Amino acid sequence: MFDTVINNVRLLNMDDVVNVGINDGRFAKIAEEKMTGQTTWNGRGFYLLPPFVETHTHMDTVLTAGSPRFNLSGTLFEAIEVWQERKQNLTVEDVFDRACQALQQLLSYGVLFVRAAVDISDSELTALQALVKVKKYFTGKIDLEIIAFPQDGLMASPDNQKRMRQALEWGADLVSAAPHLEPTREKGIESLRFCFQLAQEWNKAIHIFCDEVDDEHSRFLEVVADLAISKKYDLVTVSHANALAYYNDVYASKVIRLVQQANITVVACPLVNSMMQGRADRYPKGRGMTRVKQLHDAGVNVCMAHDDIRTPFYPLGTGNILQAAHLGLHLAHMSGQQDLHDVVQMITVNGATCLDIHDRYGIEEGKPANGVVLPANDLAILLSEQPKPMYVFRNGELLSETDPVETTFYYEKMTT
Ligand SMILES: [Zn+2]
Repeated sequence: MFDTVINNVRLLNMDDVVNVGINDGRFAKIAEEKMTGQTTWNGRGFYLLPPFVETHTHMDTVLTAGSPRFNLSGTLFEAIEVWQERKQNLTVEDVFDRACQALQQLLSYGVLFVRAAVDISDSELTALQALVKVKKYFTGKIDLEIIAFPQDGLMASPDNQKRMRQALEWGADLVSAAPHLEPTREKGIESLRFCFQLAQEWNKAIHIFCDEVDDEHSRFLEVVADLAISKKYDLVTVSHANALAYYNDVYASKVIRLVQQANITVVACPLVNSMMQGRADRYPKGRGMTRVKQLHDAGVNVCMAHDDIRTPFYPLGTGNILQAAHLGLHLAHMSGQQDLHDVVQMITVNGATCLDIHDRYGIEEGKPANGVVLPANDLAILLSEQPKPMYVFRNGELLSETDPVETTFYYEKMTT
């Protein structure tokens, strides 16, 4: 007799349906044989996947689209201006309430591991203070990692260098830079050196917002890779890397080789990337996303993330990471059966690699019983319909339940 049994579920790497027994919050047995539990859930032949991992989002800007005004050009630069105006009025309560609302929504979509950037460009670090409280509030439900993110630059806004240190003292988990937003290439490189130095001092992982621009001259990814290799730094992630899509193929393959050697994770954000990038292109326009398939084929750990939810940077979004995966597989031309499988890995297992949580992640005997039962028994259906999970479990406890959508038809079926 188990504490809890989830019957009749399909795992990603198995053809047959299995039953799952849970004891003391951990997966105790995964097998085809019948199991009995004090509590039993019927998985109805649907997928049981490990929780989704959101490797790039923002919980300070979240749900502020239209306040104080909408981003009419849709560009990164107008978004930063609008956010500049909005952040004058931030309060801890304002950020706390919006972040809690958004994280609850993520939880209902089965996202239980979240890495969120917080802009540290204000002297009070208001958003950071709020997110440290939010992180505490969600303990045991969602694991929240906070990136100290200098939206206004580290060299362009030198006060941000001391704010980064302050942010680490106050509870930020990772350090960051956005070298393409610095005034010159040299200052961009200097910002990366600062970031690596700080990360080493504090023994923190690094998450760089890198080359988020449709400009083949933005060449910071090679610098990040070179720093990671020369400093033997292992916990490095870059987001966006859009310029990589614009490099010529010879230079791009050199950079991809360096990224692979450096063991860097690359996070693509298909929704935001495709909306924001390519705006200055003439036809034919770029697809907006980095070279996901090429990076993946070269052995790089690639993730897909939802990124913004209704912010000046992106006016739409629900937090459903399957929407990001769905768009991402189109933009990356990943439509084969193995591709669909790989794309699901990009929002689950590869995310766990990025966050370095494999010791406690996965549907395996002995690991914490965290998982989502999704109303689909085929990857094409899962990615096409992007359903909410029927059940979301954390340490064997049910955190949320959503009835699968069922349509009733009121007309007679035709027979031949
Ligand atoms: Zn972002």
